[in-house]
Amino acid sequence: MLECIVTKFGGSSLANDEQFRKVRSILELEPTRRYLVPSAPGKRFPSDEKVTDLLYACHDLASAGNSIEPQFVKIRERFLSIAQLLHLKVDAESALDEVSRGISGGRSRDWCASRGEYLCGLLMADYLGWKFVDPAQGIRFRDDGTLDDEKTQELLSALLADGQPAVVPGFYGARADGEVVTFSRGGSDITGALVARAVNADIYENWTDVSGFLMADPRIIEGPAEITSITYKELRELSHMGASVLHEDAMFPVHRAGIPTNIRNTNKPYHPGTLISKNAPNEVSVPTITGIAGHKGYSVIYVEKSMMNSEVGFGRKVLSVLEEYGVSFEHMPTGIDSMCVVVNSSSLAPHREEILARLEKLVEGSGSVSVNDNMAIIATVGRGMVHNCGTAARLFSAMSRARINVRMIDQGSSELSIIVGVNDSDFEATIRAIYREFVA
Ligand code: ASP
Repeated sequence: MLECIVTKFGGSSLANDEQFRKVRSILELEPTRRYLVPSAPGKRFPSDEKVTDLLYACHDLASAGNSIEPQFVKIRERFLSIAQLLHLKVDAESALDEVSRGISGGRSRDWCASRGEYLCGLLMADYLGWKFVDPAQGIRFRDDGTLDDEKTQELLSALLADGQPAVVPGFYGARADGEVVTFSRGGSDITGALVARAVNADIYENWTDVSGFLMADPRIIEGPAEITSITYKELRELSHMGASVLHEDAMFPVHRAGIPTNIRNTNKPYHPGTLISKNAPNEVSVPTITGIAGHKGYSVIYVEKSMMNSEVGFGRKVLSVLEEYGVSFEHMPTGIDSMCVVVNSSSLAPHREEILARLEKLVEGSGSVSVNDNMAIIATVGRGMVHNCGTAARLFSAMSRARINVRMIDQGSSELSIIVGVNDSDFEATIRAIYREFVA
């Protein structure tokens, strides 16, 4: 029996009065759903505008000394229509006037952006008859803009200690001096995870407009299978490679606290979605692979130097050149007298010439440096790989049958993933070949 569920609803789940109604009926289905973290209202239809984007636009108008009205009317209209159609008692007009005055009066960019969640939370608390908890009091940022995790845990759990059902707006918190700070875009997911940890929830439900994660990108594989269960570690590998439904930073607080996250679809409330947990407990059978994700646009820097293997500290010198220019590396397969450093081409571009010149200096007289662009990286991820021998053999045979040339191989050190590098032009074919081999 579940005791306490924290729910987070994304922008599309709160886009209008009809979505508000769906949210309430989802909460009514399960009385242990006692906390709600809302995003700001998102798009109602594809060409619609998100309230957060409108707020950023208002801030930009105000900072250029212009009237915010042409944009602010749209925000006003959206919140007032929800308040009117749901017969809310809250004084939405005054709350909107205050926000409008704040933006025109030069409040910070973060404060302006946070008002979408703030207003949405006020309306939702009224609609549900729940307590409204302002995260400016519970989520603490340091002066350098980073989250103060410990202080947040202390403040938030104290604010929610009475156990009363509460609405806590997503996306923002504040510094000790009260100045509002937001997370990066999509950050309400993080708020949801922090609230789940603060109340020691049994589960963190993240409600959105898709029924969880798919095994592969539906633009490449038609109707890919759904992932019903995945571990936090696997998900991290997949989201790093571009499979995004959840903000990357939303996993850490709940993962560490051992709280599972359930991705659910507001428009299909009975669909079980994807369950993300620490160990995927009670599995009858584990599929060999959980998902495939990848990205184009990588470059391989190939450094060759004779006797490289006997030179202590050479790898560090290569990496410190990249570090100096703020380029992080993705993979680094090494040989005896050579090493490859795989980097994102766009992060290499701004200082490409300087970096290469510096590396050439390191190998002067006894080696060479070259760069190969247009590489795609594909990660095949699965906790089931540990128990199954022959996975790599199947993967590479599938690629060879599809006549794809493998340019790089890296088996993740966790034995959770096999990573291959191929030409950008082989990207889609590789994903299809792997999917066909393991899934359908
Ligand atoms: N409303 C914010 C955004 O659009 C945060 C969020 O929705 O999670 O990015």
